[in-house]
Amino acid sequence: LPVLAVVGRPNVGKSTLVNRIIQRREAVVEDKPGVTRDRVSYPAEWTGRRFMLVDTGGWEVDVAGIESKVATQAEVAVSLADAVMFVLDAQVGATSTDERVVEMLRKSGKPVVLAANKVDGAAGEADAAYLWSLGLGEPFPVSGLHGRGTGDLLDAAMKVLPTKSEHGAARPSGPRRVALVGRPNVGKSSLLNKIARAERVVVDEIAGTTRDPVDELVEIKGIPYWFVDTAGIRRRQHFAKGAEFYASLRTQAAVEKAEVAVVLLDASQPISEQDQRILSQVVDSGRALVLAFNKWDLMDEDRRPYLEREIEKDLGQVAWAPRVNVSAATGWHTEKLVPALEKSLGSWDMRIPTGRLNAFLGELVAAHPHPLRGGKQPRILFATQATARPPRFVIFATGFIEAQYRRFIERRLRETFGFEGTPIEISVRVRE
Ligand code: GDP
Repeated sequence: LPVLAVVGRPNVGKSTLVNRIIQRREAVVEDKPGVTRDRVSYPAEWTGRRFMLVDTGGWEVDVAGIESKVATQAEVAVSLADAVMFVLDAQVGATSTDERVVEMLRKSGKPVVLAANKVDGAAGEADAAYLWSLGLGEPFPVSGLHGRGTGDLLDAAMKVLPTKSEHGAARPSGPRRVALVGRPNVGKSSLLNKIARAERVVVDEIAGTTRDPVDELVEIKGIPYWFVDTAGIRRRQHFAKGAEFYASLRTQAAVEKAEVAVVLLDASQPISEQDQRILSQVVDSGRALVLAFNKWDLMDEDRRPYLEREIEKDLGQVAWAPRVNVSAATGWHTEKLVPALEKSLGSWDMRIPTGRLNAFLGELVAAHPHPLRGGKQPRILFATQATARPPRFVIFATGFIEAQYRRFIERRLRETFGFEGTPIEISVRVRE
């Protein structure tokens, strides 16, 4: 669902307005700084359109000074939202804090609707009109308390709110999309033949799926998957020159179309640079990942320890990916792809609620503070998961967070919440 974030200074009446919009009394009414709520987003509906309403009112942000606190909240909200409802108190007018938020909103490029709240009578209309000067378009005079004007405000919000969220767009229904990739001769075409032959799928049985002729519907253990861009696998083209370049383009195209990639490796051969390049491609594309070691039937016990050592040495960048050992030649263990695929896709889809994430980070930072930098301690203020598919986290901090500390956070995130089979992205925004 698209996300509409309600942003503004404390006491401008954000929560009253949110309560009015979701038509519930349950949301916290007080708009006091420092009131923490476990819930910040509410499903809402207006003229038949559904969206998520994010109320920034109660987020506990540990920043000295009300000004930067509001700006930080607004920035967090904006990073999550598809559109912003900026609430001002028309009786007070625009303060310097409001102006700081306006500047940030303008930079963000997100659509904004302006709510001039606390306009309880005709006299307030003039105050509201004054807010044209902010340069954010028409200020809508409303009274969250009495409900006046909120209809027009929501109409305006619906006009600028995209119908689909950019963030972790709703998953298209139907079978999930898999890219089978790996260097030439690892056994991609053999594996595809083996599993595609095992169970035939009647494509028409699956309603609402659009079919690209180069994609094949393959059922493993009764679960259908789209294997994307299989033409290249079937056709076994060989290019004398630049073969690797074409292979890499094909891999890229397949991975872009897919939600999860199965990277096939040849267990009987040393892990090559090309294998690693393919893995980097998948990781960089932000897709979920399963590692499959093929030709296990050729595996002799002498090679086992070597392989384990190679995995440790060369596959460190994807140590979080589930591994399966298969044989495309005999069909051995090919059904094990299913739990691995589902695991990786599940992690890829996962969202950690903001409250839980910050509780986790709070404990982590208390036990292991960031090392001093130039005598100063960069503090982590707040974190949020901006998207899923793949999971992307944004951390707000008072100073630069070292790469090593970022990796430490990633490791602990994985230990605590799982995330097996998905890349994770952590970005840091520094607030002075
Ligand atoms: P692709 O280039 O990745 O599509 O690889 P192919 O599927 O064409 O396989 C390359 C070669 O490896 C062929 O000679 C296959 O018969 C052989 N091969 C594929 N999978 C296996 C396997 O699991 N075990 C054995 N022993 N050979 C395999």
